[in-house]
Amino acid sequence: MADKQGKNQSDLLTLNRSLILRLTRRMRVCSRSDLARASGLTKASVSDIARQLIDMGVLWEVGIVSGQKNRRSIGVSIKQSSFFCVGVRLTRKNIQAGLFDIAGDPLTQTRRDIAPNAKPEDAMALIREMVGELLGQTGGRAVIGIGLALPGPVIYDEGRIAYMSVFRGWENIRIGDELSAAFHMPVMMEHDGVCFALSEWQDMGENPGKVLLCVLAGQGIGAGMIIDGQAMRGAFGASGELGHTSVNPSGIRCDCGNYGCLEQYCGTLALERMAGERLRDMPDHPLYNTKPDAAAVMRLAREGDPVFVRLFRQCARYLGYGIVNAINFINPDVVVVTDELAQCEDLLREVLTETLAQRIPDRILRRIKLVVKQSGSVNAMRAATSLVVERFLNNPPASQNLSEGAEHENHTA
Ligand SMILES: [Zn+2]
Repeated sequence: MADKQGKNQSDLLTLNRSLILRLTRRMRVCSRSDLARASGLTKASVSDIARQLIDMGVLWEVGIVSGQKNRRSIGVSIKQSSFFCVGVRLTRKNIQAGLFDIAGDPLTQTRRDIAPNAKPEDAMALIREMVGELLGQTGGRAVIGIGLALPGPVIYDEGRIAYMSVFRGWENIRIGDELSAAFHMPVMMEHDGVCFALSEWQDMGENPGKVLLCVLAGQGIGAGMIIDGQAMRGAFGASGELGHTSVNPSGIRCDCGNYGCLEQYCGTLALERMAGERLRDMPDHPLYNTKPDAAAVMRLAREGDPVFVRLFRQCARYLGYGIVNAINFINPDVVVVTDELAQCEDLLREVLTETLAQRIPDRILRRIKLVVKQSGSVNAMRAATSLVVERFLNNPPASQNLSEGAEHENHTA
């Protein structure tokens, strides 16, 4: 469905209300003057909108804040306890689910492993059970939706994953439809790269940058892009597959059909494979002929074992090659690298900084902010809720009757 290009008076009101709500969430607590300065709206307009949002129970007044020239004024903040959302992250090995308030603070969370021989239907039943348990803990307060972060591209008009390498069969399940039928609330789902990118962008302060690239380096390598505040999803939802861009046309055949895909050289599955291969030739190493998992490899690298430091550096360099390609292609001003490989945060930052400096012209590189950060499981679930939060921020409730907006949906509008 194409967006209409013209804006009517009511659209402008929604846009301004959305802007005020978004800025308040970014600043956590702020004065009406702060909001006027950051939004470019007049103080009178800001006061009007703030009053409407307070009447609706979306914002509330929270004491006195000190502003410029030590002027003291009444602070406003999002009324966190009014609205909850559920975030679910599905990976090939486990499901993480959590209940969050609208400001992104976690209330409760849970995690279950997926049995190695489980079918997607079994994992789906587990998701339903976990979400049901979380919804039982809201104390009757409004839940505005369920966000799902998925490890594969989502075909929007079909409401399902296009494919998930190593875990087949998901392409036959309409995940969003099943969950909204079970829980009667909006369900939004995205590739996890988009969820993380959106979440980073929502949290990025008053000046979030123009183009944000978020790279998830886990079992696979995914990416999400936010351009002028909009997630770049591609024509039908399959963008951001950085892990399946080739860095070696005659390399290993990948599940996707391509050869020498980036994730064959720097995903955690690749790290495990390479560690096993390396240890087969090292009879003197205490781990000779074993197959340590990625977490163990990265722990040993952090402890300074030279074999694993070298191996991790090699992996990180490959990730760097992929990021250099992405930077040349989309020209981001912020690059966030996170997920499992960031367990070796310092080493990863060091190698990526080196690789980018060798391969990107300095005039361009010095304008790019590189952020390498660890992501806990809370961050992953919180990233999934960013879809629900985004929908709420784009369309703040126009009345106190929230159920009016609770139609079924498979993706963010
Ligand atoms: Zn591939």
